[in-house]
Amino acid sequence: MIAERLKNLSQACAEVEAMIISSPENRRYLSGFSGSSGALLIHDGVGELITDSRYWEQAGMEAPELELIQQRQPLWPQVAAVVRERGYRTVGFEVDKISVATWQGLLQSTPQVKWVGLSERVERLRMLKTAEEIRHLGQAAQIASTALERALARMRPGCEEHEIAVELEWQMRKLGSEGLSFDTIVASGPRSALPHARPSRRRIMEGDLLTIDFGATVAGYHSDETVTVGVGEVHGQARDIFDVVCLAQSRAMEQVAGGFPVSEVDRIARETIDGAGYGSYFGHSTGHGVGLEVHEAPLVALHSSDVRLEPGMVLTVEPGIYLPGKFGVRLEDTLVVTGDGSERLTKIEKVWREL
Ligand code: ZN
Ligand code: ZN
Repeated sequence: MIAERLKNLSQACAEVEAMIISSPENRRYLSGFSGSSGALLIHDGVGELITDSRYWEQAGMEAPELELIQQRQPLWPQVAAVVRERGYRTVGFEVDKISVATWQGLLQSTPQVKWVGLSERVERLRMLKTAEEIRHLGQAAQIASTALERALARMRPGCEEHEIAVELEWQMRKLGSEGLSFDTIVASGPRSALPHARPSRRRIMEGDLLTIDFGATVAGYHSDETVTVGVGEVHGQARDIFDVVCLAQSRAMEQVAGGFPVSEVDRIARETIDGAGYGSYFGHSTGHGVGLEVHEAPLVALHSSDVRLEPGMVLTVEPGIYLPGKFGVRLEDTLVVTGDGSERLTKIEKVWREL
């Protein structure tokens, strides 16, 4: 599998003799190596891994298909030395993943090399997941959904947002999550109008909307799911916007299938919310790809018009309505595109429920 990925990357970067990959997720995808520092040198489908002594043993175990180059000086000077030694004249690098200082250092230390900034080459390969990757994503989603049910069962009016986050994170870890997919969002009452609120010491109260956005990780793969629930009975506009978001989400999810333009998924969700008069309260895009990163290609947005869904793509559908100072609702599921439609990886039904 690694050999095939390396071959595909070399084909995707045919304009250069060799390609340097330094971003952690792309490095892991193309090698299996999960350490926090290192770079890959890829040429003609062959990969070499440059890393320091902290990781030599780990690299041997995790990335047996790559040759190991032992790093004995800071990473980028070492990369430059290897490139000089090999006599490459055109070398690609991830233009959106290295600093200006690193790039300037490379130019100075390798004047004979033409450095070519390439973007999205690995990310495009990563959009189509293998059965093994989908299994990891499914496991992460299952852990997160189960953990949320366990955490909610213990929560009552009077609990702090912070307590809910801690309980949920503890349950995810107990169920086998390696870590958190991202900082858990718990937002209640007027704070639910903040799409990315951090859990506060606010106590949840009868009549609140409570939004929780959370994820687990398995083998480096993330889950991403959002629920909005009522704390006791909820009436009026808060209840109405829940129904609108629920309809927008289910309509958009029904369309997720091979061949469908990803921008249309966004359009359907947006039209439903616009039609109910809340268009200006739905500011973010409808979703995003999920994999080794919690946000990756494809972006599910109106301007992603050239991307069509294909079996093996994994994406979220997460419309929301946020009324400043009042309350907000977001519902999010993660889906995998299959041969004849899609399968939902996240497990919690997005129907109205009360704590
Ligand atoms: Zn999320
Ligand atoms: Zn998301």
